[in-house]
Amino acid sequence: MCQSLTQFIKTESRRLGFSLTGVTTPDPPPHLSTFENWLALGRHADMDYLATERSLQRRADARCILPGCRSILALGIRYPNPALVTPAAEHNSTGRIAAYAWGLDYHVVLPEKMEALVHSIQTHIGYAFPYLCYTDSGPILERDLAQQAGLGWIGKNTCLIHPRLGSYILLAEILLGIELEVDTPFEADRCGTCTRCIQACPTGCILPGRTLDASRCISYVSIEMKTSIPLEFRPVMGNWVFGCDICQMVCPWNRFTSPDEDAFFSPNRVAAAPVLMEELALDAQAFNQKYKNTALMRARRNRYLRNVIVALANSGYSEEKFRSLKLMMNDPNPLIKEHASWAMAQWT
Ligand code: SF4
Ligand code: SF4
Repeated sequence: MCQSLTQFIKTESRRLGFSLTGVTTPDPPPHLSTFENWLALGRHADMDYLATERSLQRRADARCILPGCRSILALGIRYPNPALVTPAAEHNSTGRIAAYAWGLDYHVVLPEKMEALVHSIQTHIGYAFPYLCYTDSGPILERDLAQQAGLGWIGKNTCLIHPRLGSYILLAEILLGIELEVDTPFEADRCGTCTRCIQACPTGCILPGRTLDASRCISYVSIEMKTSIPLEFRPVMGNWVFGCDICQMVCPWNRFTSPDEDAFFSPNRVAAAPVLMEELALDAQAFNQKYKNTALMRARRNRYLRNVIVALANSGYSEEKFRSLKLMMNDPNPLIKEHASWAMAQWT
């Protein structure tokens, strides 16, 4: 193992904008059985790709993904704490977007930074080695690896929490074919007796054992669910139109974080609180133009507008809103029509 190389990598990683860097091994992650039980109970909703045999094997041993993997770099990069950015007085007809999606899409930003880091390492040591970069992009237990690499603990809300930086952190990993000095796992559970996230979750989807019922989580429902939103969730979604930050917003470990986030995730590119009536007017072309290179592209226009309609219904009646929803009945997409019809029925 090489201490000076590990130090070089950590310094370089910091220079590239990663707030947290740790090293762990490709050995099976400690919470693998928890994940397997979670799958067995069907808590992964319709995300069947999580449960394939190939995916399970790869999660159990990173060497199935990268033969010759000898170390794993766990990386964390900060995004804005909504408590420090969102205007205090909210208009009652604005939506809310999860803070990680306010800036450029991390699926684009993080791989570029990771590639730059690998390039620096290879230049530094003078030879190429096999590697693979991941950010929410493959069968890896990201939070487990981050905890094993000493980045923080997994909170009851299932987020990775750093004792100083809180949980507004995006995780990424690089599997490396070189051996590095391994960090000490973060063993402490600093949640203690706190249950704030469990009490605050509007759908009650936070389960024991640091797991969620994904099918009930607003993040899943608003982004991944391609069908009609079940009636029971519509009122409790409030004004969340893409993701949900509630279980992080109430977490005491996010109270003292500084607004020192990476510029790539600044809230300039996407309004943190879009005006719902304006969003209703987005056709596919306008949506793609407005949200190009942001994580909102994952929901696409139709799913996003479906969420906007639900948020509008939850924001209270006005004649103008009712008229706009009536116009949405002319939309060619059946999902939008159905939600618009439901929304109008809430007010009649
Ligand atoms: S993201 Fe929202 S719905 Fe999902 S667990 Fe957290 S509070 Fe609950
Ligand atoms: S709100 Fe409390 S229980 Fe939930 S993750 Fe934060 S510290 Fe842990």
